[in-house]
Amino acid sequence: MNVRLSSYGRPLTKLRVSLLDACNFGCVYCMPATAAFCHKEDYLSSDEISEIVGNLVNYGVEEVRLTGGEPTLRHDLADVVEKLGKLSLKKISLTTNASRLLQFLPALADGPCRSMNISLDSLEPDNFKKITTHDGLGRVLDTIERARAMGFKIKINTVVMKGINHHEVKNFVRFAERENIEVRFLEVMNIGVVRPHFQEWHYSGHDILRDIESEFGLSPVQMPADSTAQVFTTAQGGRVGLIASESMPFCGGCSRLRLSSKGVLRACLMKEDGKNLRGVQPSEYAPLLQEIALMKPMTRIKEIPEPMYQIGG
Ligand code: SAM
Ligand code: SF4
Repeated sequence: MNVRLSSYGRPLTKLRVSLLDACNFGCVYCMPATAAFCHKEDYLSSDEISEIVGNLVNYGVEEVRLTGGEPTLRHDLADVVEKLGKLSLKKISLTTNASRLLQFLPALADGPCRSMNISLDSLEPDNFKKITTHDGLGRVLDTIERARAMGFKIKINTVVMKGINHHEVKNFVRFAERENIEVRFLEVMNIGVVRPHFQEWHYSGHDILRDIESEFGLSPVQMPADSTAQVFTTAQGGRVGLIASESMPFCGGCSRLRLSSKGVLRACLMKEDGKNLRGVQPSEYAPLLQEIALMKPMTRIKEIPEPMYQIGG
């Protein structure tokens, strides 16, 4: 083990790895109408990913979340997971829209990636289609059920937007209680395509909690200091979370780094600067990582033009 990387007192232990920028959905808050994706050959290979992550483990990275774009569009997803499983990581997890997840479940079942966050912004088929431009609500719900039956730990991520799906918050809480599954409500972030709509769409965490509290009651659950989510239980024992990145930012306790699908490591979702680690020798990591750590802001940056699918959400 070399030094443990930290930024102004924040240990940098969690890494988001974007496997690709491409996606089969066109979520209104993420994907522009005319999205341009990288060439496939430019994505890090599974060997490059495990090599870079292996080097970062030596500097204190403990947990990896695979994301994108849509990570299940990578045919070698199980291979990536298997290679990461050989490193000394405490946790490997996946964020996915679950539309293509079913086919990967058998290959992932006995592996090290046991936790998945599934993005689900509507429980109404028409609204699901309006938000994602995809017709697959039933398939996503079936996949959630199947994954849970196979023993995967599933949480739901729901981006809440005023006038689009904020009326569904209570229904999602009922879903959480009925299915005994944690639903995390995300404030829409002022990123990429959201920027011209931010004032119109932003529904604050306070409003979300007020809506839930009035009908379901809420008791806070103690979370680790670097948790992005506030978590609560309802009176009926349902578990719900809130990630209020805009109205209640958590930069002061942020432990995250991000590796892009092309190998650029950055210190913050909201800052474009980073360092390319592709082909970098282990002996060259220390000064590069120090530079990256210094790039991490202490307070929330207001907006970023780069869309989420390109950054790796
Ligand atoms: N395609 C996968 C998915 O949707 O789960 C993984 C990538 S996606 C970029 C990761 C997460 O970022 C999703 O939960 C998505 O809802 C969230 N996200 C994307 N754009 C966002 C925005 N502008 N504000 C808040 N969350 C956003
Ligand atoms: Fe695709 Fe995920 Fe972005 Fe939706 S949020 S368009 S599923 S990358």
